[in-house]
Amino acid sequence: MNGDEWKKLLRQSCTSASELGEYIKLNGDEQKWFDSADNGLSLLVNPYYLELARTSEAIRKQCIPTSAELLQTAVESDDPLSEDENSPLPRMVHRYKNRVAVLVTDQCGMHCRHCFRRSFTGQGRLPLNREERKDICSYIEKHREVKEVLLTGGDLMTLDDGPLIEMLTAFRGIREDLLLRLATRMPSSLPQRITPYLVEEIAKLGPVWIITQFNHPDELTKESRRALDLLRKGGLPVMNQAVLLKGINDQEEILAELFQGLLVQGVKPYYLFQGDLAAGTSHFRTNLERGWEIMRNLRREISGLAMPVYAVDLPGGGGKIPLSESYLVERSESGFCFQNPEGRSFIYPDE
Ligand SMILES: *Cc1c(COP(=O)(O)O)cnc(C)c1O
Ligand code: SF4
Repeated sequence: MNGDEWKKLLRQSCTSASELGEYIKLNGDEQKWFDSADNGLSLLVNPYYLELARTSEAIRKQCIPTSAELLQTAVESDDPLSEDENSPLPRMVHRYKNRVAVLVTDQCGMHCRHCFRRSFTGQGRLPLNREERKDICSYIEKHREVKEVLLTGGDLMTLDDGPLIEMLTAFRGIREDLLLRLATRMPSSLPQRITPYLVEEIAKLGPVWIITQFNHPDELTKESRRALDLLRKGGLPVMNQAVLLKGINDQEEILAELFQGLLVQGVKPYYLFQGDLAAGTSHFRTNLERGWEIMRNLRREISGLAMPVYAVDLPGGGGKIPLSESYLVERSESGFCFQNPEGRSFIYPDE
């Protein structure tokens, strides 16, 4: 395969209703979004992902906007996680003591309609420049408690190989044992981006974990499996963060198939996120009760290895917490009483 195919596909992305017309016919709800003057996160969908949208409703909903996005509910905001408050430097969020997140670029391989960074995504800022990078690197050097750098955006795999490797090499240069975590949706949104050359170059850079985002089994295509194979054979550990999305994947059978499918590809399901309170995403949010019910039922269907942690990033900068529903029923004299997923009670003696 041509190593530059992804660039061509990305360049051919649709950004308007008329360009979409070549692939799909918009329905009324979708058209309404395009007819509105102020419609938030712009349209960006590359031909690879769009081709999948032609036959999969779950894919279509992730990339084609509808009028529901025009609604901003009272609890939603542009900065739902108060990241601005936790940014000691312009493109860096230091919310947890031992790790920082760096917003390398605001470009993505597609614009996901559920994106919670939507006030940052696709705004056409320049990628992190040398000066900004130097400032961030010296901050991390000074803060020895930082053990991990999460490189995110946007999607830094939209950078060309040269600048991407240069970026990773610069962060690697801080400390050899610094864990680099590279967040990218490319394996699902534009898997052609994952080339043997890129994998080989990243693998040379010591401990780098790849975090990707698959939300539906329809995204596990021949192309994306090839990308995941390359990453696995190249020795790069891959984990998946899925978002729980109403009308897309909020069903046990769908998630079971997704997590099992990922596991078979060597990808560990890491988080299943409850939707953040980003403006215009209320139609995608399931309620917590349903989320817990799904997790309980999944526990019976798939192995522990296939189970992600159901989590939420608390509004107002509270950070990520596991939304674990306790299996503990009560503490009695003889010990702790737990209920298993089948609803039967058992005592674990407290001695
Ligand atoms: C999500 C996130 C991290 C990583 O959190 P984990 O629970 O370790 O996956 C780090 N920094 C910021 C700002 C984040 O939003
Ligand atoms: S790839 Fe990530 S940052 Fe980009 S639009 Fe999708 S969810 Fe948002």
